[in-house]
Amino acid sequence: MQDFIDQANKNGITLLDNGMCQFCGADYQRGIFECMDNYNNGLEHLDFNDAENHLFRFLSVDAHALQHPEIHGRWSNHFHLTRLNLILDKKQTWDYKKSPMLSAYLNAYKLNRPNEFLTIPKPLDRGKITAKDLIKVTTANECVELIKKWADEVYYSWSSSHSLVSQIADGFLDNNYNGKTQGRKTTNR
Ligand SMILES: [Zn+2]
Repeated sequence: MQDFIDQANKNGITLLDNGMCQFCGADYQRGIFECMDNYNNGLEHLDFNDAENHLFRFLSVDAHALQHPEIHGRWSNHFHLTRLNLILDKKQTWDYKKSPMLSAYLNAYKLNRPNEFLTIPKPLDRGKITAKDLIKVTTANECVELIKKWADEVYYSWSSSHSLVSQIADGFLDNNYNGKTQGRKTTNR
């Protein structure tokens, strides 16, 4: 659980332990520390025995990670933004088997790209919805709708890196589903 503190140190970021979260702007008392403690809030409304709900866990993990990129490894941000591109733009279904496939693809991809960095949007400028808003939801449906909007807002805030991760996502699809995705670029799915 100390990972995020180590990562922040590595990035030269001082973590603030009072007031709002310095990264997403959520109104807390203990800053990022409270944000990390609470980011799963609201997900208890979803039944994860139903595989259809797994999507909302992926989306919320990606949204939270990308609102706090300074406390994740650089390639971890590539992973989360590429996954959002695959799900939101390329309309790919996602499940627990695909995440390690994407990680493996990125592990190979990064070997030749020591200087590739995503352009990180400014703190507090990564979508208005935060994990704290999930506290207010009272039904599964509200939870799903909020997570969709949250992921959309965060994804949009990273627009300057969309074309890069879109290429990575295409490479991933070609690599893993060669043949199944033909015609992908010419349809409007
Ligand atoms: Zn936060």
